[in-house]
Amino acid sequence: MEKKEFQAESKRLLEMMINSIYTKKEVFLRELISNASDAIDKIYYKALTDDSLTFQKDQYYIKVIPNKEKRTLTIVDTGIGMTKEELEENLGTIAKSGSLAFKKENELKDGYDIIGQFGVGFYAAFMVADVVTVISKALGSDQAYKWESKGADGFTIEPYEKEEVGTEIILKIKENTEDDNYDEFLDEYRLKQIIKKYSDFIRYPIKMDVKVQKPKNENENEFEEVVEEQTINSMVPIWRKNKSELTDEDYENFYAEKHYGFDKPLKHIHISVDGTVRYQAILYIPEKTPFNYYTAEYEKGLELYSNGVLIMNKCPDLLPDYFSFVKGMVDSEDLSLNISREMLQHDKQLKIIAKNIQNKIKRELENLLKNQREKYEKFYEAFGRQLKYGVYSDFGANKETLQDLLMFYSSKEKKLVTLQEYVSRMPEEQKYIYYATGDSYERIEKLPQTELVADKGYEILYLTEDIDEFAIKMLMTYKEKEFKSVSSGDLGISEEENKKETEKEHKELFEQMKSILGDKVKDVRASKRLKTHPVCLSTDGEITIEMEKVLNAMPN
Ligand code: ADP
Ligand code: MG
Repeated sequence: MEKKEFQAESKRLLEMMINSIYTKKEVFLRELISNASDAIDKIYYKALTDDSLTFQKDQYYIKVIPNKEKRTLTIVDTGIGMTKEELEENLGTIAKSGSLAFKKENELKDGYDIIGQFGVGFYAAFMVADVVTVISKALGSDQAYKWESKGADGFTIEPYEKEEVGTEIILKIKENTEDDNYDEFLDEYRLKQIIKKYSDFIRYPIKMDVKVQKPKNENENEFEEVVEEQTINSMVPIWRKNKSELTDEDYENFYAEKHYGFDKPLKHIHISVDGTVRYQAILYIPEKTPFNYYTAEYEKGLELYSNGVLIMNKCPDLLPDYFSFVKGMVDSEDLSLNISREMLQHDKQLKIIAKNIQNKIKRELENLLKNQREKYEKFYEAFGRQLKYGVYSDFGANKETLQDLLMFYSSKEKKLVTLQEYVSRMPEEQKYIYYATGDSYERIEKLPQTELVADKGYEILYLTEDIDEFAIKMLMTYKEKEFKSVSSGDLGISEEENKKETEKEHKELFEQMKSILGDKVKDVRASKRLKTHPVCLSTDGEITIEMEKVLNAMPN
């Protein structure tokens, strides 16, 4: 028997992960069942491509067996199993996913629905178990092996007797402590509940031996307790179900089960279209910005299924860039199964679906803004920048789609407001939508340039992000009102007339100041917008001081 150590990084990772990724211990079962389902999917896939194998659905199942006396919980599957090497590699290295490798190897062939990809799920078992034993026999192999580990300090591996191909995972459930109760993971009723909650749509039966009361013979009043093998999960995918049958929790569980994110979704959108192109989709707006969201590493896309079979993990063509934060899946029976990536891009059906989805997302966001302002603000905090970026890119082609979803901080309301709200409050004589730029609201508030506009009682939008002003420049107008920076030359305010007189009066002073400042300024003029500050800088053209800073900071 050999003893191998986990790699040093693995040790640290293991502890970190166990304590941080999962908020609930019960998800260990979801992870182990997902792995079992993946293992069966792999056999199913092999059978599609290998004539010597047949796949008879009823031979494949997952079984969950609690044993209170021995304090063990066993998860059996009839999947593809693991060789000695695979046990070592896939269970001995954290973040190593045999499933991901499998998906990559077989990428160009038919699809299937393998869930695993991160290579961490298995270790969730250590949240509830002191010892984890894995007995596995790989497809096409004569010898089975036993892998065993007590957690962070390594694992042992040795040959073992096992008749059938597949895997058995035995968890030695932890003893209760003062703070944590582990008995629940041996309780039949509780286990059924956890399976239902997380693994209801697993496509293979998850079985358990369940005690049931049965009438004795014909005498209906007398019952006896018998053990019956039951299938716990309903197996029908969530997106095929009727919206009215599903709860928010069901959608949240699906989000977690699919690893769309570690957060809770802010909103779900369930679409079922029976038009020229038939499709179902479940889309999510996440609550939190993924850590790599605003980097080049982030990949947008939705899972694409053809008739229940996954054909693409991340189909980017289904989402415009400005909605790249949306997660979820689309299933259509109108896509052909053997579709290649190349063909997908030119697929007419796919384009129709994408357009349709885009409209739905827009409408849902508008509804959120209208009916659940607080939630919308949360969303905007996480992804507003992407919307503004969307306005700016593509030469303003998305103006119509996005302008009513934008929000900016208002000098009057002291919170984020929409352009619609701004315009609806404008006094009759106000010509422009005013904005001011700066590092923070506090600093903008103190800008001398804002004084005149604020004094007139006009609302000013405070722009603090670089992208804000670029987006506004691209919009140019909203409801025919032009945007105007408070530091631009002509503010369109009646007090402007007075300044000409002042300029005449102090002509000499101005000329002297100009000659002293020299090249540093273009002109020295009387200002009509100052009240408490003696002087301020302003720009003549369309570029404001803030924008100039950004442009100067850009590499050439
Ligand atoms: P992931 O499922 O994201 O790949 P896991 O940590 O859950 O990561 O599992 C790691 C790997 O171990 C899987 O990718 C798979 O190759 C292998 N594995 C785990 N459980 C089983 C199982 N029951 N049968 C066959 N292989 C398994
Ligand atoms: Mg897994």
